[in-house]
Amino acid sequence: MSITLENKTRTFTKNEAGDFVSYVEKALSLLLSMDYIDPLIREGDAEISVDIRLVGSDAIRKLNLQYREKDKVTDVLSFPILDMNDGKLQSKLMPYDFSYIEGKKYLPVGDVVICPERARKQALEYGHSMEREMVFLAVHSLLHLMGFDHENGKDEELMFSKQEEIMTEIGLPRSSDVALLNIESSEDEHPVGEVLSHCGYCALVGRPNVGKSTLLNTISGMKLAIVSHKPQTTRNNIQAIYNKDDAQVIFVDTPGIHRPQSKLAEFMVDSSFRAAKGADVIVLMADGRFPKPANVEMRAAEMAIKLKKPIILAVNKADAVTKESLLPLIANYSKIADFVDIVPISALKDDGVDELMDVIISKLPSAPRYFPIEEVTDQSEREISAELIREQILHYTNEEIPHGTAVEIDAFEEELKDDAEDSYDRSLIKIHASIICERDSHKSILLGKNGQMIKRIGTAARENIEKMTDCKVFLDLHVKVRKDWKNRQVFLDEFGYKKKEE
Ligand code: GDP
Ligand code: MG
Repeated sequence: MSITLENKTRTFTKNEAGDFVSYVEKALSLLLSMDYIDPLIREGDAEISVDIRLVGSDAIRKLNLQYREKDKVTDVLSFPILDMNDGKLQSKLMPYDFSYIEGKKYLPVGDVVICPERARKQALEYGHSMEREMVFLAVHSLLHLMGFDHENGKDEELMFSKQEEIMTEIGLPRSSDVALLNIESSEDEHPVGEVLSHCGYCALVGRPNVGKSTLLNTISGMKLAIVSHKPQTTRNNIQAIYNKDDAQVIFVDTPGIHRPQSKLAEFMVDSSFRAAKGADVIVLMADGRFPKPANVEMRAAEMAIKLKKPIILAVNKADAVTKESLLPLIANYSKIADFVDIVPISALKDDGVDELMDVIISKLPSAPRYFPIEEVTDQSEREISAELIREQILHYTNEEIPHGTAVEIDAFEEELKDDAEDSYDRSLIKIHASIICERDSHKSILLGKNGQMIKRIGTAARENIEKMTDCKVFLDLHVKVRKDWKNRQVFLDEFGYKKKEE
């Protein structure tokens, strides 16, 4: 039995992970020893293997869109390989079910994809440790791989009881949750304001297509995502946040530096200048295939010199060229600025990225952590919108409504202006959102007399969302009651199992 863990998030730190992998290993071996698991899958000398991938929220949203046609961030996704139902194989194992790696025979049973960012929120919500939440999600998913489901109440009960049984057996019973909370909450370990050796802003500059988004994706572990942060948001220009135990790097966008020709040139250059001004370090990304700096690169260099900022040259797409061909590039670029360092990277292949991060970090001053550690990537406008709605709920209901209330964005549709130059040029954003509460009485508070309360919440939230998106917003709010919502609502919902809503 073997578990392969691929951590693409760089944020699920060892501290937080605890004994994640060994717990999951225990869980899998326990599961395989259960009499409800088909003995046939243990036959032969193959080692049963499961791949676990940890990804960012945008990555899991993409997977959901691709495989389940749901535009949602979920906590876990399971991709079974074998055809199983309630632990029983539905068809005989075939030779192609096995794989051989270095002479060893494996039986891969499926892939598990977990989103630690989401898990972190759930752990807080349920009041247990991140470790338990992560292991819980993995165990849940392992059961899916073995053909268990929660399509109907009976299946659900079966699956959940097995899940709890395993959690208890491996030493993470429900009762252990509370005790773990205080010790293991990552927030306690890394409070905002904690002074780090290196913390600050990094402006990432480069022509379109040079690979900036790819790099940010690689850094924030959202390989499937496109980081498209829109300007004029509340968190103006923040594209990604990279956390380490003793460092935090906030990547900011320098909009418009690539568009000096347009009518807006001055304004744009101005705004990129402002972004760079606030940065502690500038990274100029060049394309390794073009040895001569052009206008964009010259401007970036000039800007760094004018602002007296350290500038690092990242030569991207190093995978597409030979090492020798980088020499003339380096010589040419060295003439336009005094680079702190020149780092060849492949944003795509994740080569040299760690080295680049080290150079960036080394140039950041010691400062208090600016953002909570769980804010690992840019929040999308969608997520911020949900937060803004929640904020108004808490504001207007004076905490009569417990924190268990959730806001889900059901649809976030952008309409572009007729003469839109790019996807930022929106004329309207239509948002449909659900406020989910646990009780009918909460629902009546939220609605208020003649719907006055929900109207107030909606208006205030809409105004804030408009400020954040710099765009007219249409906001449609619905209040839904889900009685068992705290009790793993997320699961049931995310897996397409909808409880009757009142
Ligand atoms: P941006 O416009 O600067 O954000 O560029 P993108 O990140 O969108 O990348 C543009 C294109 O370059 C995409 O097709 C990427 O797959 C490709 N690309 C990015 N980084 C690399 C790299 O390191 N190597 C290679 N070969 N291609 C890359
Ligand atoms: Mg891009």
